[in-house]
Amino acid sequence: MKFAPAKPPIYGQTLDSLQQWLKSAGEPAFRAKQIMQWLYKKRAKAWDEMTNLPQSLRSTLETSFDIAPSKRLLDKQSADSTEKLLLQMADGALVETVVIRAPQIGVGLNKSRKTICISTQVGCAYGCKFCASGLSGWKRDLSAGEIVSQLIQVCHQEDDSTPRAEESIASFDNVVVMGMGEPLANYENLLEALRVLNAPWGLNFGARRITVSTSGIVPKILELAQEPEQFRLAVSLHGATNEVRDAIMPINKRYPLETLLPAIKEYGASKGRMITLEFILIDSVNDTLDQADALAKIATDLSAHINLIPYNAVPGMDWKRPSITRQDRFHDRLKNKGARTTIRREKGHDIAAACGQLKLQTESAA
Ligand code: SF4
Repeated sequence: MKFAPAKPPIYGQTLDSLQQWLKSAGEPAFRAKQIMQWLYKKRAKAWDEMTNLPQSLRSTLETSFDIAPSKRLLDKQSADSTEKLLLQMADGALVETVVIRAPQIGVGLNKSRKTICISTQVGCAYGCKFCASGLSGWKRDLSAGEIVSQLIQVCHQEDDSTPRAEESIASFDNVVVMGMGEPLANYENLLEALRVLNAPWGLNFGARRITVSTSGIVPKILELAQEPEQFRLAVSLHGATNEVRDAIMPINKRYPLETLLPAIKEYGASKGRMITLEFILIDSVNDTLDQADALAKIATDLSAHINLIPYNAVPGMDWKRPSITRQDRFHDRLKNKGARTTIRREKGHDIAAACGQLKLQTESAA
């Protein structure tokens, strides 16, 4: 289903498309650069702030594009400094965006390194068995403007709490596309959004600080490998053999390990970047030593880094988080086999930071 709002968000426009729009509205193309400056560098929140544009153009923009980045319904701060925003799109759809702060020694929380986790779809069709986002299926893709507007929402919020250095445009350090939805299933809109984020007239944010995460859509991984930008890739593996991965990720039936792993290797070779393999540890499902051995072999062959994430229990689902002893046993086995790995004891556990959980809780409470 495609949602076409009466007024699309301005944040989905590229410099080219805005120049085209201006021409068709009888306005000079150079105005596009001025508008982009107001949106991204000066962070205008209303058309009337754009004082170097004629009043007539401001009125036309007002009736044609939405400048508000989306409505913030909920803002939950966890004890470990992860913050989760529940945003409402123009059609009422709920989307989650997460701000993960990594405090640095000697500076306050406001100066911490910030990673923003953004969503690309409302719901998800891929049905990974551990994930709250897939529980009620796929509703629709987010437009490029809706994807960028999640970042603008965070920028506005950060500007209010921390004065921005003159030279910095983005108010964050890393972007991970790991929220609700399968990013590569919304490929065109995703790339358009990431190009706005990356563009010098946009947020001027380096592609190497953007990680795209996928459940493993092989043809799209290969397509992304051919794009000129150096986006980082993270693959949700979660099972190191087909038998175990089949039980966790239905997509494995379509793209089993024998087709997925060569595609990951090709991506790594074309970008010269290390790939991350995400592995959610689920008690007695994929946390055995046999799985650790198979995973270490895969990661070594791909020169990949393994990110272990102990499962975050989802209400209504049977699986459990392994004990710390089992988590450590798995982690140690990987290290002993020579694999590069870190274990991320889930940030934001107390605010339901795993993707889709806050939305799920809000909808069930309604
Ligand atoms: S983990 Fe990602 S791809 Fe899988 S169901 Fe959840 S949102 Fe979809």
